[in-house]
Amino acid sequence: MVADDYALPMEEERTIFHKIRDKEIPSSIVYEDEDVLAFKDIHPKAPTHLLFVPKHFVASIADVTPETAHIPGMLILKAQKFAKEKGIDGYKLTFHVGPGGGQEVMYLHLHLMSEQKLER
Ligand code: 5GP
Repeated sequence: MVADDYALPMEEERTIFHKIRDKEIPSSIVYEDEDVLAFKDIHPKAPTHLLFVPKHFVASIADVTPETAHIPGMLILKAQKFAKEKGIDGYKLTFHVGPGGGQEVMYLHLHLMSEQKLER
């Protein structure tokens, strides 16, 4: 995927996750490929607390359309593969949906939380 595929319309507000995705602000990145960036949550609520963010911007599960419906599943598969490779065999995956659902950052992201600590 090339940069233009996830370029922003002029009017779109850039969130903190746009800036993390674009490496304008630092984060503790644990995984990256052409479709996803995964990094440590700055305020972890479990011994392992990671956020999986698609490179293609979608604000929320509430905004997913037939054209972008593959993205949540892609995030789940990336999280599943990452956990397996790191030997994390028990975890929670969570999407917060909208401010009423506890979503603070309006850039779609999947939380991976585990009581098992990420060793490497
Ligand atoms: P939400 O409530 O939107 O589902 O989750 C947003 C998460 O992003 C929160 O758990 C919060 O701690 C995390 N977060 C907010 N700002 C930053 C940041 O600048 N860096 C990182 N690594 N995590 C952040």
